[in-house]
Amino acid sequence: MSDKEGILVVAEPKDGKLANVTLESITRARALTGAVGGPVSVVVMGADTAPFVAQAGRYGAERVYTADSPELAVFRPGPFVDTVAAAIAAADPAVVLCSGSPDGRDVAAGIAARLGLGLLVDITAIEAQSGAVTVTHPCFGGSLIVEKQATTIPLIATVRSNSFAREEAAVEPQVVALSVEFSADSLLAKVLAVACENAGIVSLEEASIIVAGGRGVGSAENFALIQALADELGAAVVADELGAAVAASRAVVDAGWKSHPYQVGQTGKTVSPGLYIACGISGAIQHRAGMQTSDCIVAINKDPDAPIFSCADFGVVGDLLQVVPALTEQIRKRKAAS
Ligand SMILES: Cc1cc2nc3c(=O)[nH]c(=O)nc-3n(C[C@H](O)[C@H](O)[C@H](O)COP(=O)(O)OP(=O)(O)OC[C@H]3O[C@@H](n4cnc5c(N)ncnc54)[C@H](O)[C@@H]3O)c2cc1C
Repeated sequence: MSDKEGILVVAEPKDGKLANVTLESITRARALTGAVGGPVSVVVMGADTAPFVAQAGRYGAERVYTADSPELAVFRPGPFVDTVAAAIAAADPAVVLCSGSPDGRDVAAGIAARLGLGLLVDITAIEAQSGAVTVTHPCFGGSLIVEKQATTIPLIATVRSNSFAREEAAVEPQVVALSVEFSADSLLAKVLAVACENAGIVSLEEASIIVAGGRGVGSAENFALIQALADELGAAVVADELGAAVAASRAVVDAGWKSHPYQVGQTGKTVSPGLYIACGISGAIQHRAGMQTSDCIVAINKDPDAPIFSCADFGVVGDLLQVVPALTEQIRKRKAAS
């Protein structure tokens, strides 16, 4: 049994706010303080962390470690790992939760290597009982659900987006400014430019609704139907949610109808939205690996034997070129009537 207590969440900034996965991790951490002890702490890093402090407090972070520096304005692993290491030294937590995004995984791996700790990746659940913390992680494309405990403390884990609920519970956090000396090695890499192909578009990992198209969509132009359904659904979700995003199968990316950032699956992104609508996607295991932990899966396919139906909560057997516009129209009508 360790004498370490509390949970430290490594905040991920996204478009001037904290990423959803950070708010979900803070919410989950609050529920675990009975077993893991307190406090729930968050470390925020950036050129100006003030807005993040307020948001972390709104979701119940009792203590916020801040690091403001021009070196932290844009993500790169070196200075971020230095800062998280300083926060861990200050907080001495039992658990450290990082985001499961590419940046979060980079930091988590760097911290584990730096501190000689194990790393549990892509967790979708975390429970604690009398100081023993157990995490759940889907592997082999979600066909196996594994429960794990850490043999090194603090437990370090990356969290899959949309795995936990997100609830506000405002507190006035204690703010602790970290003074971090970046090592020369950490600053060796320079970020010259950041190009975001999907700028201004709802991020796949964060979206609460995803409308995905497969080869059955038929052409790049037909993706306008998929986009129209996503737009209609996105506008219908409550303001707090991040909206709806369009995704694609690998067949679509290989055909050049959509670029790789849209791809869901084993060699694309892993997503876990509240609603995943698969249109003209056969449901190959490599695609399901990236989406089968979604809360509700709707499949639209003209082949009643398509494997996608085996993991779908609702299925429509039909031509998506007719079903999708009809669905979009129904949603539009219902919104207009309400
Ligand atoms: C190592 C490896 C990694 C891979 N990684 C990925 C990955 O990350 N993501 C991924 O998606 N795939 C991945 N794949 C590819 C995967 O095996 C499938 O080939 C791919 O998912 C098929 O895409 P699809 O379902 O869009 O196309 P298809 O398999 O061609 O299916 C098209 C479906 O559309 C239906 N359809 C056709 N027309 C209509 C219509 N008008 N209305 C309704 N339904 C219609 C058909 O019945 C069919 O079920 C990987 C493969 C390998 C070997």
